Amino acid sequence: MPVPTHNVLTCKTKISKKTKCQFCKNENLYYFCCSHGSKVIFEILGKNKWIKHKCKEREVALLLDHIRSERFSLNKEDLLYEAEKYISKMDFEFLPYENLQKYIDIEFNQLDLQFGSNESK
Ligand SMILES: [Zn+2]
Ligand SMILES: [Zn+2]
Repeated sequence: MPVPTHNVLTCKTKISKKTKCQFCKNENLYYFCCSHGSKVIFEILGKNKWIKHKCKEREVALLLDHIRSERFSLNKEDLLYEAEKYISKMDFEFLPYENLQKYIDIEFNQLDLQFGSNESK
């Protein structure tokens, strides 16, 4: 079945199967992928109603991953800016901009703890 918002003539479903979200463990989800390269996880795949899976756990995990991959090349201020760009690019819904600093701090504190535990006093 074609995606309602895609060109119905060229949109072909490649994969559509039940799946489980690795982040929030919700098992009633559908993994969908079409000939346009869209890969989306839906909560409902109805006739006219397609509802994307919105997942705070996933957004937090992806954001922390991104912060981790950028943190050695950027200072804390630029990292905040980078994180803002990232969540707007990814179209995240649950991560408000005001909380970004908190996640950056979490990531920094975790690493500091790891480094701290390796130090002998
Ligand atoms: Zn498509
Ligand atoms: Zn989820």
